[in-house]
Amino acid sequence: MTRTSTNREAVAYLDGLSALSRRGFSTLQAAREAILQVVTEQLATSSSFFSVIRQESGKFEVIAAHNESDICNVEVGTVAHLSPQFPVLIDGEDGPTPLVKENLYCDPTIATLSTMAALPNTGCYIGVPIVLSDGALFGALSTVDPEPCQMSLTQAKLLVVLARLLATQVEREQELIERKWAEVELSRALRALHMANEQREYLNRMQSDFVSIVNHEFRTTLTAIQGFSELMRDEDFSFQEVKEYASDINVDARRLSRMINQLLDLDQMKSGQVQLHLEQIDLNEIIIAVVQRIHPTVPEHQIRLQLDEHLPLLAGDYDRLSQVVTNLLNNAIKYSPEGGEILLSSYVESVCVQVCVQDSGVGIPAHALDQVFEMHAWPYKSGSPRYIKGTGLGLPIVRQIVQMHGGRIWAESMPHQGSVFHFTLPVSNEDV
Ligand code: ADP
Repeated sequence: MTRTSTNREAVAYLDGLSALSRRGFSTLQAAREAILQVVTEQLATSSSFFSVIRQESGKFEVIAAHNESDICNVEVGTVAHLSPQFPVLIDGEDGPTPLVKENLYCDPTIATLSTMAALPNTGCYIGVPIVLSDGALFGALSTVDPEPCQMSLTQAKLLVVLARLLATQVEREQELIERKWAEVELSRALRALHMANEQREYLNRMQSDFVSIVNHEFRTTLTAIQGFSELMRDEDFSFQEVKEYASDINVDARRLSRMINQLLDLDQMKSGQVQLHLEQIDLNEIIIAVVQRIHPTVPEHQIRLQLDEHLPLLAGDYDRLSQVVTNLLNNAIKYSPEGGEILLSSYVESVCVQVCVQDSGVGIPAHALDQVFEMHAWPYKSGSPRYIKGTGLGLPIVRQIVQMHGGRIWAESMPHQGSVFHFTLPVSNEDV
């Protein structure tokens, strides 16, 4: 292969450049592929490749290659020693100049031998360093052929221009990566800010809920405790009356203690301090265990089970799910003061397991159906009789537990006819 600077070559050189500029590159990869193809075509060589310098080893690694023939095929991943001539070539007067090894077979230098070892069957090597605008050596644009060759001035210029084009594209890509990185950082910071705001809002809400609960319910209950205890201190009551008042005081004190525990439990769950202890759970087993524990204490209610025998196991926290079923069953009992039937059913629905607790009690008016799950809706609840005393915190806790399992809870009801509480849990709750 002999190369001389002719008009034909100049035309081919210009053709090569204008073909490239027409193509335009959207990515560094597109630029690399197009440039390697042009180099191979215009220099009529066998293979061209783009290698980057690995700072840790000081070696060049091929990251893209264009092979026209199999004779001296260059593989991506090939590693070659950095030629000691490259730093000199960077400092050429008009920018980097090509390193030309026209006949490697007659060149016994160590650099040549190492290039030949890394690129077998190579007769000639032409390479231009890729230098970034800060003067750093980034890599090299190289072309090789099995035959010894001579390179014309036009071809040398073409290589230099293309290497510069690659350097520009590399810098653009680096800029893009930096911009993307900045965008990722920004959106991470925004998300953190958003979460901090949500946490603050939650704390504010929790604080005002707490204040309203303390203000209303604690105060009312403490007033009753205070009133009864003063009566007992100041009046002469029969032994039976004293027992009754003491029992009322005891009920109120227990309720206050329950409220404090529930408030703390809900707060810990909502602020992410409670971890679920997941294991393979049979929900039917939980329902049966809860009913066996509670049924003997409520002889005036008939508790019926309608459980799907083929209920799949699911990942859940046994104690927390027992708490959910216990709470719903206790509510069904509490809000059916005249007794009646309570039905607990389970079945599979698509990818979920659904559990329903149905009673025939006092019911909930439509406008309060969603609010009964809200803590901050307290003390406004379902308009249930005042003599049924609760804490208003059971359902918010139940909903929190169900949601932590990736499930959903809702209620249907008709005043004076009864209510049904449904909850679903995903069978495969991978996002828990
Ligand atoms: P508590 O029962 O301790 O007040 P919950 O959070 O468990 O607290 O329930 C919230 C409110 O929802 C109750 O005060 C009651 O008004 C209403 N509620 C819950 N379950 C039922 C039910 N099965 N039937 C009618 N009303 C209910």
